[in-house]
Amino acid sequence: MKQYLDFNATTPVFLESAELIKKFLVEDFGNAGSRTHQSGTDAKKAVAETRRLIASSMDSDESELIFTSGATESNNIALFGLIENAKKANKNKVVTTLIEHKAVLDPLTEASKQDIEVVYVKPNSDGMVETDSIKEALDSKTFLVSCMHANNETGVINPIDEIADEIKSFDPTIMFHTDCAQTFGKTNLSLKNQNIDLISFSGHKFHGPKGIGGLLMRKQNGFSLPITPRYFGGGQERGIRPGTLPVPLIVGMGKSFEICSKQQDDWHSKCREIKQSALKALSELDHKIYGYQDDRCLPNTLSIALGGLTADALIIILKDVAELSTGSACTSEAFTPSHVLTAMGASDSEAKRVARFSWGPDTDPNIFKDIASVIKETL
Ligand code: PLP
Repeated sequence: MKQYLDFNATTPVFLESAELIKKFLVEDFGNAGSRTHQSGTDAKKAVAETRRLIASSMDSDESELIFTSGATESNNIALFGLIENAKKANKNKVVTTLIEHKAVLDPLTEASKQDIEVVYVKPNSDGMVETDSIKEALDSKTFLVSCMHANNETGVINPIDEIADEIKSFDPTIMFHTDCAQTFGKTNLSLKNQNIDLISFSGHKFHGPKGIGGLLMRKQNGFSLPITPRYFGGGQERGIRPGTLPVPLIVGMGKSFEICSKQQDDWHSKCREIKQSALKALSELDHKIYGYQDDRCLPNTLSIALGGLTADALIIILKDVAELSTGSACTSEAFTPSHVLTAMGASDSEAKRVARFSWGPDTDPNIFKDIASVIKETL
């Protein structure tokens, strides 16, 4: 049977979460902003419980977490929200990395049109952003650093703990934002670090529904971060993300988060075993792996070139066996080689050959033997 191997793009919603979502869509459908009846109070309570659960996993208070439509929106709020305050303090520089998702790179391109200088740090050849490279880019004009936790293409995990500590020892007023879309619910330990100021995440990457996520904005010395709102309306989510709260999506994401948190060790060990099977089966072919494959990489992700074929060719050859993705951003118009792989030193033609496999703990490891034999037959 064809297998879905694109878990870094999105994951199936847990049945338990889907049932809860249905309950909050159909039965407990109150508006969390209604103050005049029980239905509103119940909805508000359900939202508050989810907020508490998620915030406490980062050793944070619920008042520090707002719900958004996902990591893209959270990144935009974090990256644009601090500009006004920075300008007042005569600061104009943001440090980020060449391997961020477009949901960070594109807002920063836009910010550069508002007299913001953006400095892009290169990863090492294994796709990791080294703490020293971030440190070297900091100066007295820097007000924000944005560095993702794990990369969506290679799965390589950046040392955000260490990066956060170094930034604060250089200058405690510099804010540190991290896009955790690929790690949230899988490995939240580093996120307890109080030197990380802003954390973005998306529910659908950890078996929650699409269109819901969050932004943690850690208070500094008891004061809220100086985020300037970009939207205006009913004042929900501390006026930073106004609009009627999508209660079913919030509670559904909360349930998925709860399940994932309980299953984290299991997720890691099962996904690691699947990776061993993948590496064993695929290494029989001519291949090149991109990124670390030890505990500096998510155990469910493998970026690999196989048999000298382009990733597009692999996707076609494997279409009856598995659903995977290219490591690159493709528009309908033209193929663009992955900016992540080229930043790691791959040429455009090498980057074109890289396919991304990403899986979950219940993926059948034998799929990689099937993949290897289909490719062997084709070559
Ligand atoms: N950041 C990273 C690292 C991602 O992998 C993704 C999704 O692929 C996003 C941000 C955007 O998430 P969403 O589309 O849910 O807003």
